[in-house]
Amino acid sequence: MRMTQTDYAAMERPIFEAWKDAGYFQRTPGFGEHAGESYTIVIPPPNITGVLHMGHALNDTIQDACIRRARMRGFQTRWIIGTDHAGISTQTKVDKRLAEAGISRLEIGREAFVGECYKWREEYGTTIVNQIKGMGCSCDYSDEHFTLEPSYVRAVRKLFVDWYRDKLIYRGKRIVNWCPSCTTAIADDEAEYVDEAGHLWYLRYPLTEPVDGLEYLVVATTRPETMLGDTGVAVNPKDERFGHLVGRTVRLPLVDREIPIFADWHVDTEFGTGCVKVTPSHDPNDWAMGEKAGLPRINIFDETAHVVEGYGKFSGMDRDEAREAVVAAFEELGLLDHVEDHDHSVMTCYRCHTKLEPWESEQWFVAVDGLKEAAARVVEDGSIQFHPARWKQVYLDWLANLKDWCISRQLWWGHRIPMYYCDECGWEDASVDEIEVCPACGAPVRQDDDVLDTWFSSQLWPFATMGWTEEGMDAPQMRTAYPTQVLSTARDIMGLWVARMVMASMYCCDNTIPFEDVIIHPTVMAADGKPMSKSRGNGVDPLRLMEDYGADGMRFGLLMQVTGAQDMKFNEAKLESSRNFANKVKNASRFVLMNLEGYEPGAPEPVTPADRWIFSRLARVVAAVDAAYDNFEFGEITRELYSFVWNEFCDWYIEFSKARLAADADPADRAVCQRNLVFVLGQILRLLHPIMPFVTEQVYGEMPKDADAAPMLIVAAWPDAGELAAYVDEDAERAIAMVCEVVGAVRSTRARYGISPKTALPVAVKVADEADAALLIAQEHLVRQLANVEELDVAVEASKPAESAVVLGTGLEVYIVLAGHVDFAAERARLMKERDGVAKDAAKFEKKLSNPGFLAKAAPEIVEKDRAKLADLTDKLARLDAQIAELG
Ligand SMILES: [Zn+2]
Ligand SMILES: [Zn+2]
Repeated sequence: MRMTQTDYAAMERPIFEAWKDAGYFQRTPGFGEHAGESYTIVIPPPNITGVLHMGHALNDTIQDACIRRARMRGFQTRWIIGTDHAGISTQTKVDKRLAEAGISRLEIGREAFVGECYKWREEYGTTIVNQIKGMGCSCDYSDEHFTLEPSYVRAVRKLFVDWYRDKLIYRGKRIVNWCPSCTTAIADDEAEYVDEAGHLWYLRYPLTEPVDGLEYLVVATTRPETMLGDTGVAVNPKDERFGHLVGRTVRLPLVDREIPIFADWHVDTEFGTGCVKVTPSHDPNDWAMGEKAGLPRINIFDETAHVVEGYGKFSGMDRDEAREAVVAAFEELGLLDHVEDHDHSVMTCYRCHTKLEPWESEQWFVAVDGLKEAAARVVEDGSIQFHPARWKQVYLDWLANLKDWCISRQLWWGHRIPMYYCDECGWEDASVDEIEVCPACGAPVRQDDDVLDTWFSSQLWPFATMGWTEEGMDAPQMRTAYPTQVLSTARDIMGLWVARMVMASMYCCDNTIPFEDVIIHPTVMAADGKPMSKSRGNGVDPLRLMEDYGADGMRFGLLMQVTGAQDMKFNEAKLESSRNFANKVKNASRFVLMNLEGYEPGAPEPVTPADRWIFSRLARVVAAVDAAYDNFEFGEITRELYSFVWNEFCDWYIEFSKARLAADADPADRAVCQRNLVFVLGQILRLLHPIMPFVTEQVYGEMPKDADAAPMLIVAAWPDAGELAAYVDEDAERAIAMVCEVVGAVRSTRARYGISPKTALPVAVKVADEADAALLIAQEHLVRQLANVEELDVAVEASKPAESAVVLGTGLEVYIVLAGHVDFAAERARLMKERDGVAKDAAKFEKKLSNPGFLAKAAPEIVEKDRAKLADLTDKLARLDAQIAELG
């Protein structure tokens, strides 16, 4: 139970509305040195059937971080949002809804069904956009797009017609992956593969005339039912076993069809018997062999994979029944040679998981050879860059292996293919505008029944959303904001979508690339390293994460986990520490705000070494964060910020400042200190804003501002690394680093021996050289203030005083004198006793772990646990030894 649950949404929603109402989500006017440049991102349009999942949560955080930073850097910024009509998945959902009401899509007809789809979209299609708003994403919601909006439809028709005219689209009979349940073709890359324990049936095919006493050939097949459509038997030309049979024929059992034996180099002599049955209409390889050998094609299945008329008792059977019946008939005839077990992988439909059937049908194709060269060139020459860079080769390989793209789908929901046919005179053509009557004879025409693959429309996304439809490259947005800057997406749609957008853009947009940088973000896996899935129950819901950690905590925590790796094991603890970090920022801000009595705005001015140190560190962090953004290393950005803000600003600079803010402090210095705190905190808020937009905006609203300050943080200027570079100060960094080490050493020693912070302790520090000595001596007051040091001796030749603890630092040694506070003899005896116990335990584990019998029998996790225990004990032993040595 979460007793003290913060209502994050209550804090976040008004901030989001304020950004939106101020118009900051629409293209910003720009300012500063980038005022004239545009920066645009198009969101990968989520499906209208979608709900926010972890992949979106990560990807949208990445995009929002990029777009917010660009906005703060003064670019004219816009993040275009919209949704995808998601052909097959929406149709499936609407089908299901109708079926629940006892209605079939076939009954109500196409028009009414499409109406139902639009209705469905009205009801559910906005869910995901609302969830994206909940994340704080600064998309332009005032101009939302949809892949079936009228102008988008026209863009799709335009591209179809252009490609048709350029002979880049053609109609052809091909083997496609057919889903007999969805009754549509499925693209190769949409199919899923599952392993199946199957069989290899060896069938005897009698020779029409016996040859040298040989009466039959044996062919092996995993799909015996397809033999009904066999039109040949093939052997490898170099296979000496069968050379003399080439040119002869076999009489195909059950259908009594005489079919030739022919040679083809593609036959694998190792598979089965080396003779293969050839079914051109039901296997893509057989199709190719049949084309070359001039074999007829016989389609034995209808669109639901039932055997067509003309095959006697087999007609009307589905493919599984037909398989059983064919095998039984061969057995009856004594033609079933034998059966072997055979595991293989089968393709299934990604929507309904039905086994796909290779099926010959008439489809529309895009001839990709005319398009892929340009799409490869712009990646090869670096015009488009991938992050991480290794995806470049994956992209190029995908293009190199690309085959013609089957774009027709036998669905109703989607972009209907703009082909028109006249049954009267045979006229046919593609048309951007709708056509009612035949231009040749005046008879009514009919439009193609099929719709286009959803990816056909998605490929226009970057430019069809920017006014290309109406004005092409002259559209104002196309002129000023195309190509876009960043595309961030998941790796699984790299080919399906990314490569196709490049092909389409090169063709449609005068050889202009659609985007400059492509981020392929890691795939979010469950904590167990497996894909998140409902059936495994290992999924995580981003909506729940936002409730528990706030949108800020989720966003920062997700980016923290990004490395260059392909997969990212989701670790909720990172979200928890991000939430704590957000709270830390809030608390630090509260401290600053509470100490601003008498505050007067003014320029920051690093006067003390502590000031110069934090300014110098700030300058370096800004440079590091900029570099990480430039390289799209989001994990790096969060790690830099987390450690700077928490470990340096909050833990030390605020501590250093306390004395200067006290009531009895010098008022002039207090004013400087106040201004410096406000300045550094302001820079921190800017740096954090792209990733933690809400908490930073909230704090910014409470901070004192100069007259010319930005009204909201979302449009405040990003820290200027160039200007800040002037603050880099090696000496100040060295001095404060030493202060922190000495204070840390004294504090940890007090903790180790249980000495109260109220007890002042003498301390000696051995430093590397006179320069360090001078730097540290100048900061003696800080050490005294934070560590309660009685006297501080700093010297190059300092030696360890009697009865003192020693802590090694970077380039220095700290001696803390404990005489009078610790009874060295008793302490030593106590530690020796403790050491004996630990040593005994360690020996026990060592013995166990060197016993081969134990190692062989024990479960690996037990061995692992014991090893960890031993490592722990060894470490403890070392620390005890050091402490005993310290006590001399
Ligand atoms: Zn299906
Ligand atoms: Zn006509």
